Amino acid sequence: MLFRSIPCLWITFCLRLCCYVDSAEAQNAKEVILLDSKAQQTELEWISYPPNGWEEISGLDENYTPIRTYQVCQVMEPNQNNWLRTNWIEKGNAQRIFVELKFTLRDCNSLPGVVGTCKETFNLYYQETDSEVGRSLRENQYVKIDTIAADESFTQGDLGERKMKLNTEVRIIGPLSRRGFYLAFQDVGACIALVSVKVYYKKCWSIIENLATFPDTVTGSEFSSLVEVEGMCVSDAEEEAENSPKMHCSAEGEWLVPIGKCICKAGFHQKGDACEPCGRGFYKSSSQDLQCSRCPAHSFNDREGSWRCDCEDGYYRALSDPPSVACTRPPSAPQNLVYNINQTTVSLEWSPPADTGGRNDVTYRVICRRCSWEPEECVPCGPNVGYSPAQSGLVDTYVTILDLLAHANYTFEVEAVNGVSDLSRTQRLFAAVSIATGQAAPSQVSEVIKEKVQQRSIQLSWQEPHQPNGVITEYEIKYYEKDQKDRIYSTVRSKSTSATVNNLKPSTAYVFQIRAFTEAGYGTYGPRLEITTKEEATAAIVSSEQNPVIIIAVVAVAGTIILVFMVFGFIIGRRHCGYSKADQEGDEELYFQFKFPGTKTYIDPETYEDPNRAVHQFAKELDASCIKIERVIGAGEFGEVCSGRLKLPGKRDVSVAIKTLKVGYTEKQRRDFLCEASIMGQFDHPNVVHLEGVVTRGKPVMIVIEYMENGSLDGFLRKHDGQFTVIQLVGMLRGIAAGMRYLSDMGYVHRDLAARNILVNSNLVCKVSDFGLSRVIDDDPEAVYTTTGGKIPVRWTAPEAIQYRKFTSASDVWSYGIVMWEVMSYGERPYWDMSNQDVIKAIEEGYRLPAPMDCPPGLHQLMLDCWQKDRAERPKFDQIVGILDKMIRNPNTLKTPVGTCTRPISPLLDQSTPDFTAFCTVGEWLEAIKMERYRDNFTAAGYSSLESVARMSIEDVMSLGITLVGHQKKIMSSIQTMRAQMLHLHGTGVQV
Ligand code: AMP
Repeated sequence: MLFRSIPCLWITFCLRLCCYVDSAEAQNAKEVILLDSKAQQTELEWISYPPNGWEEISGLDENYTPIRTYQVCQVMEPNQNNWLRTNWIEKGNAQRIFVELKFTLRDCNSLPGVVGTCKETFNLYYQETDSEVGRSLRENQYVKIDTIAADESFTQGDLGERKMKLNTEVRIIGPLSRRGFYLAFQDVGACIALVSVKVYYKKCWSIIENLATFPDTVTGSEFSSLVEVEGMCVSDAEEEAENSPKMHCSAEGEWLVPIGKCICKAGFHQKGDACEPCGRGFYKSSSQDLQCSRCPAHSFNDREGSWRCDCEDGYYRALSDPPSVACTRPPSAPQNLVYNINQTTVSLEWSPPADTGGRNDVTYRVICRRCSWEPEECVPCGPNVGYSPAQSGLVDTYVTILDLLAHANYTFEVEAVNGVSDLSRTQRLFAAVSIATGQAAPSQVSEVIKEKVQQRSIQLSWQEPHQPNGVITEYEIKYYEKDQKDRIYSTVRSKSTSATVNNLKPSTAYVFQIRAFTEAGYGTYGPRLEITTKEEATAAIVSSEQNPVIIIAVVAVAGTIILVFMVFGFIIGRRHCGYSKADQEGDEELYFQFKFPGTKTYIDPETYEDPNRAVHQFAKELDASCIKIERVIGAGEFGEVCSGRLKLPGKRDVSVAIKTLKVGYTEKQRRDFLCEASIMGQFDHPNVVHLEGVVTRGKPVMIVIEYMENGSLDGFLRKHDGQFTVIQLVGMLRGIAAGMRYLSDMGYVHRDLAARNILVNSNLVCKVSDFGLSRVIDDDPEAVYTTTGGKIPVRWTAPEAIQYRKFTSASDVWSYGIVMWEVMSYGERPYWDMSNQDVIKAIEEGYRLPAPMDCPPGLHQLMLDCWQKDRAERPKFDQIVGILDKMIRNPNTLKTPVGTCTRPISPLLDQSTPDFTAFCTVGEWLEAIKMERYRDNFTAAGYSSLESVARMSIEDVMSLGITLVGHQKKIMSSIQTMRAQMLHLHGTGVQV
């Protein structure tokens, strides 16, 4: 047989053929081999049927490694059907199986005599089974995969030898569902050598991508399918939020489309495909951070893999602090705590602490304690005390404490706190002041009970106010007919907590209000209480209806009563502020005062024919033996002014000022001297100097006034230049305005309101003084004769009063504006050294005083309002008090924009800025801002030129030993203005 003569030739072909195959057989990393006939060196022992068909033959490859092949070549015989079946192939996880066949096939033309029977193809089949099915072979159980034809076949070589080309064909089977399968090759009359059969599937091999491990994954069953695979984070890594790692395994065994990722946990950072712990002294607070960071300031750690660093001793981290910020500590104590007392209200102001602890969330809290005279016995102030704007969480460096008890000792601690204060176990640091409150009017009388209601009388009783703030000497019961509103009202006074109001009309609704009185003045009225008197007895009315004689009699009697009341009322009305302490007797005294709002008027003592009567009408005659003169404190127009003590029977002795009338006085001098007492005696207000009484029945004649420890305001301010806070200054102005409101309500025009005529007591309470009639102004050294006649203190006086002697409360408001200016400039002389004539001219031309140094713009605006040319345009004292109260309640409005509010060096009144560049030396500059006392401090520290001064910071100023906050502010404000001017002049900045 031809075939039998072929084998050695066949093998020769095969060896040469192996060289061809070599490169194509490179192992593909994505493949998992299930069967590789070449790899098996022993017999394959596949089933061949019929036995004379396919034949297993051994050969050698190029490396002389034995290989097994199957051949068939029954080309001469017709109707060939030769089957060859592999052993059972377990498919494992595979779903798509690749079958790679390498074979040679002889071309029929090269075989003579085979026309009609020779074929050039063979068929490939498979059969799926779950296990091996034995060695029998049934054709119908096989599924055809393809008919395989050769691409290449034997060809004639150049040298006449026959070359054989190796064919490689790959076919894919799948999806497969059983555990394994057989492959079968059907030959129908070709001459084939099956050199190798390789069966494999493809797989994506395990990788680490984005810090996630993806396991070995078998490709999908379809050519186009992608298998989604979840990754698992490598150790110390975690999935990124809502972004778990995924990849897709393609049919070709390639990883595609990565989604999501893993990131190194807190305390670890990425190095290659792994997470490594942060080193010592480093931390990584979150998985989101990429790198480990060095521990922030004042923190440390001494272990690896830390997510945060621990704070050093004494340093803390607030709960809200991220681990990336430095550890911080509580702030030091606030600095420069100053206070201002206004009766029972205390304002505190301070500077921020030197050390904020490294944080910018510093706030302040105030702790209030009331102390007995023993220093250790202090108790918390309790809920009745008010704090404005708040007791704690204060962002600004001030607070006002309200509703304190009068005449009580308090300690206030101001503590700076920040976000870590509550974590600290170290001692609290605070600034503290001890303060004694001044006098204050009593609080409201609110609990009033109607004891007995009759036709014509009502009996009331009430509780003492919660805060009497002193000894209550009297209560005033105000009442009016409800229909009349309070246009007409009457008052009754009582020394006890009950009173009966008589002479009321039957069946009439009355409104009652009660207020208490102490030496600090009246408290405010309590709430209105409405009571209706009982009806008149009907019997009388019935009988009077029936008897005209009785009606006439009743009318006559009623008329007489009304007449008597009117006459009596008129007499009392003449005394209408009419409360004469000298006349006061008994527990209750009834007055009928036919008053109208705001007409609690002042009575000019000159209207009394007998001035002595006026004095005794309004001033209490004191026994000279009750007065002890201690020393001379000043000189008045009529004699010396002394200080001393007044001890009235049954009362505590009090400090007093005693004005004496010099010996050898004339009767007119005596009258003029006592006139002041007649006026002062009519007033009763905490901001008007209080008259204790007079001594007219002995010698010397004396006027006894409450003692004002700090003397007159102008001198007091000059002495304490720069030492008060703006709130303290505004507190003083508020007091003066309240006193003036009271006086103007009384209808009293002061005419000589000036800082020199305001007295200041030890609690910085300012009181209006120096009362006299117009001619008493003669006594004022500032008063000069004007063309309209009479002496006038020109700088303080409104133009209409200078020009045509129009003195009114509105002209007092003008003077009040000047007092504001004096106060804010610490007693500077208004209009400096300008002549009176120049002042009058400048005012006429519309010029006004500029804002004093460091004066809040709102206050200067109020001054300008007081200096309106048209007096009707000026604010009323009532409004002024309201405006100042608002400012005190909202101290923010009193902040001075630095450098905007400056004092001119030359008396220009058009508010131009002072020219600091005009000064040559530091000394001249200090003199101009009235700080020459610090000349040596500047020299000693080497500040010899204005340029060097312009570079100073607040710390530099403090380091000179200037401790007063007011002075520091004044100097800094001036330096800032100077700096701005230098910048403007030279176009260059001064570096600070
Ligand atoms: P006068 O005659 O009212 O101008 O008083 C003269 C000086 O005596 C004033 O400038 C004050 O220094 C002083 N003086 C007047 N009244 C009092 C007082 N009530 N308390 C303390 N000092 C006073």
